[in-house]
Amino acid sequence: MSTMTLPQVSQPASTPRRVKYVRDIDKIPNIPPAERAKLKLVAQRYVFRANDYYLSLIDWNDPADPIKQLIIPRVEELNDWGKLDASNEAAVTVQHGVQHKYPDTVLLLCNEVCGAYCRYCFRKRLFMDENDEVTNDVTEGIRYIADHPEVANVLLTGGDPLLMSTRRLREIISALRAIEHVQIVRIGSKMPAFDPWRLLSDPELQELFRTHSTPRRRIYLMAHFDHPRELTDEAVAGIDCFIRCGVICVNQCPLIRGINDDPAVLADMYRRLSWMGCTPYYLFQGRPTAGNEPYEVPIVRGWNIFREALCIGSGLARRVRYVMSHETGKIEILAVDDRHIYLRYHRAKDPNNRGRFMIYKRDDEAYWLDQLEPVGGDAVKFAPSPLGDVEDGPE
Ligand code: SF4
Repeated sequence: MSTMTLPQVSQPASTPRRVKYVRDIDKIPNIPPAERAKLKLVAQRYVFRANDYYLSLIDWNDPADPIKQLIIPRVEELNDWGKLDASNEAAVTVQHGVQHKYPDTVLLLCNEVCGAYCRYCFRKRLFMDENDEVTNDVTEGIRYIADHPEVANVLLTGGDPLLMSTRRLREIISALRAIEHVQIVRIGSKMPAFDPWRLLSDPELQELFRTHSTPRRRIYLMAHFDHPRELTDEAVAGIDCFIRCGVICVNQCPLIRGINDDPAVLADMYRRLSWMGCTPYYLFQGRPTAGNEPYEVPIVRGWNIFREALCIGSGLARRVRYVMSHETGKIEILAVDDRHIYLRYHRAKDPNNRGRFMIYKRDDEAYWLDQLEPVGGDAVKFAPSPLGDVEDGPE
């Protein structure tokens, strides 16, 4: 499905550059005019945005090019399928732009714009005109976090926080650093893939990270690379810049049909990420989000792809977990055999589910927990794992 050849760069990655945004599909001459007309209808519902750098990674001679699939709309997105808020984030929204699902982790949805829009985004509702879930004014969110001493981790998300100005980022990160119980500040961003120059060309942002990612309290970049073709020389230089500023880098991405649903592609990306110092962290099962039908992979097929991908590479390339960010918690997909699917709550909203191990009947068509039938009519309730709620996660 995809080639392992990485794009060549035309100039040193360190050369400052500003990407040029493309919001109108008519500005992409590689798409035939008749197709553009259809895709514009899709973009009226699910917004389109890209930039010249990212578009340059597309091999237009390959109709199935994974970068093209990631960024260019498809008419199937208009199929009636899924929900806009597939994991009911509304239920854990405690204030405007603040989600609090697990005791020690709070999400601040502080920006509703991204460097480009991934077609399979599970938060595409945020980019719709009628949506008002995000707030650039995080004053209330900061107060909420200050009032909750159990919150040790804060994830800046959206949208993409690195689309905000450095001045706004400084205000937010400084305010979080002034709260003693906040240890880890995470930034969820695909800018290292969409625009590696965001950090490379901004000495003030570099200084901000150097100041606030300290030996005892680090800033983490939750990077989002989906395919090894995104790991250009510029992207590698961008991650290197984060690391040199003291930021710990990990990668999380969904499993997406037509983009990375291939063990060789995933394994190649995981190996390269481990070499770069951007450890693979989570592989997400795609949420059944409206508009995402063409990008979904059933759980059983996903497990087989993941398992095969993990046969390659060093241990550092294989630290990734395959998880479902369900309304009830983050559920790890542990194994599949001839008859069953084995799951475990990695994080649970209900404390009674922490570490709970579950067995469901194998269903090769199922995409999501809600479609699975528990063994014995109810999920087998084993004692919670002694590890309990071992690790937290942002989504
Ligand atoms: S960068 Fe993240 S939030 Fe933005 S469109 Fe892509 S998946 Fe969605």
